Amino acid sequence: MQRTADGFRREGKRIGIVPTMGYLHEGHLSLLRIAGQHANIVVTTIFVNPLQFAPHEDFSRYPRDIERDTQLAETAGTDILFIPENNEMYSRDHTTYIVPERIADVLEGKVRPGHFRGVATVVAKLFNITKPHVAVFGQKDAQQALLMQRMVSDLNFDVEVIVAPIVREPDGLAMSSRNVYLHPEERAQSVVLSQSLQLAEKRIASGERNSGNIIAAMTNLISSKPLAIIDYISIANPHTLQELEEISIGAAVLISLAVRFGSTRLIDNTIVNVH
Ligand code: AMP
Repeated sequence: MQRTADGFRREGKRIGIVPTMGYLHEGHLSLLRIAGQHANIVVTTIFVNPLQFAPHEDFSRYPRDIERDTQLAETAGTDILFIPENNEMYSRDHTTYIVPERIADVLEGKVRPGHFRGVATVVAKLFNITKPHVAVFGQKDAQQALLMQRMVSDLNFDVEVIVAPIVREPDGLAMSSRNVYLHPEERAQSVVLSQSLQLAEKRIASGERNSGNIIAAMTNLISSKPLAIIDYISIANPHTLQELEEISIGAAVLISLAVRFGSTRLIDNTIVNVH
């Protein structure tokens, strides 16, 4: 990969990377297509990164289908598919990690301590291996996308970060590899995530400015689904992730949430521009 990346660079090619954990869906493929608009060589990486999973999380049962992924990735314009093994990525004496702080400690970082240390470390390694000019991340993982922008800026990576919009199922559920875990009843109830975000958008459009009231309305709606357990609902500044009690006109807010259905944990979010 190293030699290839250097070769492409010498030829003046622009390299774009889309890091994924595989089990590709239309959300991933949209990222690949966007990468293709910004780069000559699209590198898709598939690596279920053990470092970003806590011991009790779903690392070992994370869905995998390399054959199908290979086909989909190629169809969506992947030039290089990089699927490293664990021992290629982490030697036995691996010692060095990237530990994001502050905005990494709230929301997902609070519920999943160490998660973003795993993400930042693996993405930094993937950047160094593939030497991209541009990297595409999904807004689906809003905090991750923000942290990647911060990492690139804080550590002077010469990589442009593009954040791509969330791709949804026809009923509104944000696409995720983890959606396959959902039992039919859970899948039916999971539409409540995007519905609650739409409800928040409507409340804000009709003049509501108190975050507590909006979160209460969202909580009510989500709680009407008996299988849904709310991890968090947050209304925050999209740049600092600081919680906002009041929403001010002219600003943008990030409304994000994590909801569990049985052992499946789903996240979703929306950015609302307040006029
Ligand atoms: P994952 O394989 O879940 O780690 O995701 C790989 C990349 O795809 C991340 O940048 C995600 O934010 C992005 N992604 C996942 N699901 C979606 C989606 N529904 N819409 C847009 N991007 C997504």
